[in-house]
Amino acid sequence: LELTLAILKPHVIKNPHSLASIRKLILSSHFKVVQSKRFTFNDEIAKRFYNEHKDKFFYNRLITFMTSGPSDLYVLARENAIQEWRNLMGPTKAYKAQYDDPETIRGQFGLSDTRNATHGSDSAQSAAKEIGLLFPDFDII
Ligand code: ATP
Ligand code: MG
Repeated sequence: LELTLAILKPHVIKNPHSLASIRKLILSSHFKVVQSKRFTFNDEIAKRFYNEHKDKFFYNRLITFMTSGPSDLYVLARENAIQEWRNLMGPTKAYKAQYDDPETIRGQFGLSDTRNATHGSDSAQSAAKEIGLLFPDFDII
């Protein structure tokens, strides 16, 4: 089984209906939750997590948003977990997701390009790095 890191971002945690719907979707899509925790990003961890975006125009608003309240972090396991979770999330940009893939998580719960509901690792390498950063005590066997 492959592992991926999923984040339910702060605006999802603030809305009990969105949170419950996404959690249901995770389980009905045959992901196993291997690790989970509620976690509030501080500035340092958020900047380390999004370091690859440090020169992008949206970086400051992304860090401000991600540190604005608690997120839910999940290590998800499934066959082809990385791609399957990204398929379930849908397009990064909320407006594109709402228009092209309204049944996806971002299509249903994304509010803007920054507040796009969820994160998913984009490769096995970034999954290992992100899990290592956010679940430092979790040993991948
Ligand atoms: P993907 O890798 O498929 O693009 P992602 O969620 O990993 O999905 P990134 O491009 O890595 O997206 O961007 C990281 C995060 O930065 C996004 O999830 C979103 O919150 C924010 N973001 C990305 N692009 C924009 C944008 N054009 N405007 C505002 N915020 C953005
Ligand atoms: Mg990315």
